[in-house]
Amino acid sequence: MTTPGGIVIVGGGLAAARTAEQLRRSEYSGAITIISDEDHLPYDRPPLSKEVLRAETDDVTLKPAEFYADNNITLRLGSAAQSVDTAAKSVSLADGSEVAYDQLIIATGLVPKRIRSFPDLPGIRVLRSYDESLALRADAGSARRAVVVGAGFIGCEVAASLRKLGVEVALVEPQPTPLASVLGETIGALVTRLHQAEGVDVRCGVGVTEVRGTDKVEQVVLGDGTELDADLVVVGIGSHPAIEWLDGSGVAVDNGVVCDEVGRTSVADVWAIGDVASWRTAVGDQVRVEHWSNVADQARALVPALLGQEASAVSSVPYFWSDQYDVKIQCLGEPEAEDTVHVVEDDGRKFLAYYERDGVVVGVVGGGMPGKVMKVRSKIAAGAPIADVLG
Ligand SMILES: Cc1cc2nc3c(=O)[nH]c(=O)nc-3n(C[C@H](O)[C@H](O)[C@H](O)COP(=O)(O)OP(=O)(O)OC[C@H]3O[C@@H](n4cnc5c(N)ncnc54)[C@H](O)[C@@H]3O)c2cc1C
Repeated sequence: MTTPGGIVIVGGGLAAARTAEQLRRSEYSGAITIISDEDHLPYDRPPLSKEVLRAETDDVTLKPAEFYADNNITLRLGSAAQSVDTAAKSVSLADGSEVAYDQLIIATGLVPKRIRSFPDLPGIRVLRSYDESLALRADAGSARRAVVVGAGFIGCEVAASLRKLGVEVALVEPQPTPLASVLGETIGALVTRLHQAEGVDVRCGVGVTEVRGTDKVEQVVLGDGTELDADLVVVGIGSHPAIEWLDGSGVAVDNGVVCDEVGRTSVADVWAIGDVASWRTAVGDQVRVEHWSNVADQARALVPALLGQEASAVSSVPYFWSDQYDVKIQCLGEPEAEDTVHVVEDDGRKFLAYYERDGVVVGVVGGGMPGKVMKVRSKIAAGAPIADVLG
């Protein structure tokens, strides 16, 4: 079956939903088709490691089905795109059908990394999708001891949620602290303290060498020889862009789909947005961002460019958050692990820190300090001297 063209969005997550919304808001009246390999309506992922895992909600749908019907947006759910012929302008789906496009938007997000050497045993989980969150929640219901492998944002959030569910948790991270590669070791140490205060066995500077078990996972062995009993293992070691289906398409990829500063790829009439896309920044770097608020910013830049309206590159100050226990960690700007970190508030649990590079404030990270984080936005946007915020 070949369906008529218009705009075809491959991927059924936040980026697909936001782009479709933005297209209709921009008075685009042609066909819009969203192709997703999942059976669910586009949904929100942040709650998957938080409220959904803790069984506080099951509803993560971004927009109800009526929204798509009312806005004449066709949903092709449960049908993975397998390849794209960019000369014929057609996407092939796993069900054998072909979908023609005038403009194609790639929004396929990420695939969680797994550890190949781990045995194929029940009780070993990753977390990216709604179904994976429900499966992890079901396992957590009967688990006594969990090992979370990887102390990035998702690993830390899963550790916090599992503790709330009463599971004993060990958090294992080869780097010196949680979040070290993103926020540096100073903030990492404060995050370690937070998890330790909640009873998490935080083990940094060591990796996992082996997972043992007969019918299900039973033990995790660390690089220093420690054997941790576990009936649940969660692998949170990051994700890679979902780009395999683009093999042979001619669309340039390099740590994601390579795009200009408004989402144009190397191939005419093909665009990319969200976690899968590596966009060019104002200073010419390629950056792939894996955070929620970036998606809406990108949609506001991509859609006008695609429609031939006046386009502007993404300009807002980057922002993301992570909820761990009662502490909302918020990050504004572009802090890097190598920056000089000024911790200006620390009550033993909550904290506030400014990031300095070349004498300029480039970021702020707060734990449980929402108002104070947001107050720094204009200083970061203006590239103010660090002295301006240190006072
Ligand atoms: C557990 C979790 C917690 C998070 N928490 C936070 C948070 O607290 N704060 C924050 O800022 N960000 C958070 N994020 C990140 C945020 O959710 C992402 O930035 C956002 O989901 C990106 O949207 P996307 O549409 O690009 O990708 P996705 O939401 O991953 O959507 C991609 C969709 O494409 C589908 N797909 C993939 N390949 C194909 C194919 N070949 N054919 C058809 N469909 C395909 C996928 O199945 C998926 O449905 C979290 C992410 C996760 C996983």
